Amino acid sequence: MRVVVVGGVAAGLSAASRARRLDASLEITVLEKGRRISYAACGLPYLIEGQVASVDALTVYKPEKFERERNIRIRTGAEVVSLQHPRRELVLANGERVKYDRLVWTSGAREVKPSEYADDPRAFVLHTDADAEKLQGYLRDRNPKTAAVLGGGYIGLEMATALRARGLKVSLYQETTDLLGREDAFLTGALLSHLERCRIETHLNTRAPARLDADLILTATGLKPNVTLAAEAGIELGRTGAIRTTETLETNLHGVYAAGDCAETTHVVSGRPIWLPLGTTANKMGRIAGANVTGRRERFPGIAGTSLVRVGGLAVGLTGFSELQARREGFSPVVARISAPGKARYFWGRQVQVELTADRSSRRLVGGSVLGDEGVAGRVNVIATALTMRMTVDDFAQLDLSYAPPYATAMDPLLIAAQQLLHLLD
Ligand SMILES: Cc1cc2nc3c(=O)[nH]c(=O)nc-3n(C[C@H](O)[C@H](O)[C@H](O)COP(=O)(O)OP(=O)(O)OC[C@H]3O[C@@H](n4cnc5c(N)ncnc54)[C@H](O)[C@@H]3O)c2cc1C
Repeated sequence: MRVVVVGGVAAGLSAASRARRLDASLEITVLEKGRRISYAACGLPYLIEGQVASVDALTVYKPEKFERERNIRIRTGAEVVSLQHPRRELVLANGERVKYDRLVWTSGAREVKPSEYADDPRAFVLHTDADAEKLQGYLRDRNPKTAAVLGGGYIGLEMATALRARGLKVSLYQETTDLLGREDAFLTGALLSHLERCRIETHLNTRAPARLDADLILTATGLKPNVTLAAEAGIELGRTGAIRTTETLETNLHGVYAAGDCAETTHVVSGRPIWLPLGTTANKMGRIAGANVTGRRERFPGIAGTSLVRVGGLAVGLTGFSELQARREGFSPVVARISAPGKARYFWGRQVQVELTADRSSRRLVGGSVLGDEGVAGRVNVIATALTMRMTVDDFAQLDLSYAPPYATAMDPLLIAAQQLLHLLD
């Protein structure tokens, strides 16, 4: 049986590898239009900051490794321009036709560059390895002193602090009143204070001026699922605009699966469709799609909307909904916000801020955030687990969390927040 995977990064390679692990007899081909496969786009801001030497250092596997060790044929520079499902055929840009029996579509997302900067030689996006190399070249050759970053999502924030760390004077513009798209005034307030400490001038609720006076402009104003070809071929899109799939990640075209940034999934808290293009989700969806092309029927359960971002030394972990988002989803949110040391004071424990949101009537946790300089990932992951298991605050407050003075406190900040939430619910 011929399995073809379109896209050779997180979702695509996870799918191809899982399919191979489960079935040695498959003929597996990955078609990737770019010249690299398997690079970690998540590391690109750190490359720009200077903490990572080159894009090659972000490349997890070279094509030869897949071919030699996994017997997966990798074709780079192979752009699919048409999908003709009735004939089980893909057409490549060079006119070649590639046949498949089962197909995994992982075409990713695309960056939307505002039209006013389309031809501005100072303007860059950061979405692919090629974008990063272009930007690196500009930083090296032109030595810009000032930068304007457009967009206060995680890429905008990571890039603002990366450029600042390189010594540029940075202004950040965000059209809405929120940062990180969380619609959380407390979180935005904490981030604003931190950005000020990093000496990044931040303009919220502000469209960047038409004539920006900056040597470098980085636009990070939004992503869209890259689904034009799929839609032209008759693959149904969901209401988020990304590809709609069943729980087994099959599209409406029989034998065609979709995974990663091009596909929507279900929010485990609300049960509604969500499109949140993240690498961790792409890898997990890819594994499921890869299993199912071999004939299995594994389910992808959805996501809690968990993300983690570093903003100039501050780690921010988010999961589920903020208070405002929870209300919009139909919950009656009750919120506890606390600040407590993340480890014993005599081990220089610094403050960790925790926000926990629960639904008043069901007492279920529906969201949370953690901010601090260490121990953030572990704590937000505990909240994400609780959301996935539909835990009530009552159960969450009884969790047996670990303690040793160099790493944690006897009463973890998560449990302190849960206690406060219980008081508010009483
Ligand atoms: C700067 C940056 C920082 C990030 N940081 C994080 C992070 O910290 N944590 C996190 O979880 N996520 C992060 N992400 C997101 C993460 O990188 C993506 O979610 C992930 O790469 C998605 O994987 P994918 O395989 O679905 O899509 P992609 O990685 O976009 O891969 C899709 C591939 O398909 C190829 N393709 C598209 N159309 C065709 C075609 N017609 N023919 C052939 N090939 C085609 C593309 O060339 C591309 O290589 C970050 C992304 C960026 C850009």
